[in-house]
Formats: sequence, C-alpha cells, structure tokens
Amino acid sequence: MSSRTSESLRSEADLLIPGGVNSPVRAWKAVGGATRFVRSGSGSHITDVEGRTYLDFVGSWGPLIHGHAHPQVLAAVSDALARGTSFGAPTEGEIELAKAITRFVPSIERVRLVSSGTEATMSALRVARAATGRDAIIKFAGCYHGHSDGLLVRAGSGATTLGIPDSPGVPRAIAELTRVARYNDLASVEQLADRDVAAIIVEPAAGNMGVVPAQPGFLQGLRRIADRNGTVLVFDEVISGFRLAKGGAQELSGIRPDLTCLGKVIGGGLPVGAYGGRADLMEQLAPKGAVYQAGTLSGNPLAVAAGLATLNLLEATPPYEKLERLGARLEQGLSRALGSRPGCVQRVGSLLTLFFGIERVRDYDDALNADTERFEKFFQAMLAEGVWLPPSQFEAWFLSTAHTEMEIDATIAAVERALVASD
Ligand code: PMP
Repeated sequence: MSSRTSESLRSEADLLIPGGVNSPVRAWKAVGGATRFVRSGSGSHITDVEGRTYLDFVGSWGPLIHGHAHPQVLAAVSDALARGTSFGAPTEGEIELAKAITRFVPSIERVRLVSSGTEATMSALRVARAATGRDAIIKFAGCYHGHSDGLLVRAGSGATTLGIPDSPGVPRAIAELTRVARYNDLASVEQLADRDVAAIIVEPAAGNMGVVPAQPGFLQGLRRIADRNGTVLVFDEVISGFRLAKGGAQELSGIRPDLTCLGKVIGGGLPVGAYGGRADLMEQLAPKGAVYQAGTLSGNPLAVAAGLATLNLLEATPPYEKLERLGARLEQGLSRALGSRPGCVQRVGSLLTLFFGIERVRDYDDALNADTERFEKFFQAMLAEGVWLPPSQFEAWFLSTAHTEMEIDATIAAVERALVASD
C-alpha cells in the first residue's frame, strides 16, 4: 500500500492529468482546491490515503444507493469477473438487466445500455431528432445532462434565450440548436416551443444546481407542450432513476416521458448508462433501424452484474421508506441548525442541498444567488468534523441505505458546530 499523502499525490497527478483529476469537480476548486485521495470505502464511509475515515455524503455522486462495497454487489462482480471481462458479443445478463429496467420503469418498452449518462442523453436526443426530423431541442438552465456538445449549454443567468456554449470547443452552430428555458417556468418553455423542436430534455427533480424539486404542474405542463408540438419528452433520470422510487421521478409524478435516460444506480458503481422508452422510437436504432449508436463496452458483463445486483437488492428490500425517513431527519436537523442564518434546505427523498444566503431556490437564477464563500468555510469545517460533503454549493448530498439514524444525528451535531465555526 502506498504511504504517500494526498498532497504529494496531488503534485504528481497535476503533472500527468489535467488539473490532477479525471472529472473536474473532484479537484475541489470551489472549496479551496486541496482535494484528498481516497483509498477505500465501506458502507457509509470512505477512507483517504492518510488513513482518515469520513462519513460520506457523495456516494460516488449517486450510484452507491446501497453504500460502498456492498457484499452482494461485490460478489456479483467477482462472479462475473471469473468468467471474463468483456466479449463484444451479447450475454445473458444484459437481458436480465433490461427486464429489471423495464419492470421498474413501465414507460421503458425498449432499452439500450451504454457506458455513461453522457452517452445516454446524447443518444436519446439522436433518437428524438431522427423520429421528428427536427434539429432544435429545449433544455433548462441549471440542468446538467453530461458533456456532449449540444447539452453543454446553460445560457447566462437571467437569460431565457438561444444557446451560448458553456465551454470553448463547443461549436456555436451546435449550441444554437439548444434553446434554454427556465426551470419551473412553463411560460419560458411556451416561448421557445414550436414545431421545430425535436425534444424537451429535463431532470424531473433537478440535482445539478443543488436540489431543486419540480413544482406541482411543471412536468405535466411539459408533457402538454410536448404533445401539442409533436415533440419528444425526455426525462433525464440519471440521478433520480431508482433513487427516488423504483420507477424514478416519473413514478412519483405520474408523468410518462417518451424517452428516459438512466445511469449511476443501474451500474452499482461500475460504468453504465441506459436510455429507453417508447418501442416505436427505440426501434429506429441500428441494426433494426437506421439510427446509429454503438459501444465496444456497452452492456459490459461486470457493469451489468453490478447493476443487476443493485436492482435486485432494491426489489428484495425496498429502501425508499428508510431513505425518506433518513432524508427527512437530516432536512429537519439542518433547518434547525441553520436557525436564523439566511439559507434553506431543499430535499427530494434521499437528495438534499443546504443552500446558504437564500430562502428558496426554484431555478438556476435563484441558485446563483447562493453564498458560495460561506459554503466553502462550512465545507472545510465539516471535513474537519470527518464528514465528506459534495465539494460545491450546487451539488446534492446523496444518502444511502448504509447511513443510520445515529450517523444522521451525528452529522446534524457536526453541522451545528461547523456553522458556528464558519459564522
Ligand atoms: N444527467 C444527469 C442528470 C447527471 O447528473 C449526470 C452526471 N452527474 C449526467 C447526466 C452525466 O452522466 P455521466 O457523468 O455518467 O456521463
């Protein structure tokens, strides 16, 4: 085992990997930058290379609904491992996972496995464009759907406008096909919706500007607008799928999308994404139809085994009441701890964000008013308390079935101290 410190590993990584990390948020830039290297995880805890153990509220950003290194997930992966890692030919497990997905999420009549959420959303939009023969899409400011060109567009604060790329390297011509509406604001969608729009893509419970629930009527309104214009409604349930309910946010809202994007939980911590929905849309895909989408490692046997074990656990022991109870306990405790300080706690099930400096967040413009300096101090104080939070004001805390009420209470006590320390 390496006896190196996070600091020396950071210096070495910096010379080899851009920013020292393989995904930007891991660099902790929003909270001072001194990220820590992780050695291992077990249940609700992770341990860094220095041997410090933390109570983890990141959970690999959502996949680990059963916690780290769950014995049944590990057993399924090691079983599959012994049979070989990849064949580039169909395997039985893929059918089992497809059966589980279509059973859990009734709007999914046909499903394709890919290797990331980014691939899922990118491919779903291709299917929607092929079906409609249209190029434009509508997304919402503050919703993240992976890093494909057309989706890396948020438009600046306050704007409800044609897309401007968020990143150099995204062709303007592609970004301009993306129209950006305001979350929870149907009027902003009405303004952009017409018969040139192939798809409306939305996080049915937003998790990428901090947690922002869809207000009553919002998803219904999107369904209505999509139907009126012959537009495909795409729910990005990469975070919410299998986490908020067996059937995701669509089960809770009762709104049936045409296509659904999945990831995170269905991979049990290994790289998997999926997209699926109406049979007539999905059967456009090659080799049945003409829409091309492929992947060397799509349906990878290890990832499928981890995903199946994860979904089997969800079915055998539904965790949703427990997650709701833990989430509500944490929400109430955080609100109490916040006291008269400006801020709010927003939660959907096992996803939660403590926002500083604002009383309510309904959309991205609200979120941008959050007090990020205060968050940075709070984050560092929580780290010193042994609690590993998402290193950004604009991310969700993820609960797992491995968290206990005692750990939630200990977290609330730590929050009370951290708030005082960061006042
Ligand atoms: N959609 C949503 C809602 C997400 O939260 C994410 C990732 N956080 C993605 C898509 C992209 O998934 P991936 O990182 O697996 O490409």
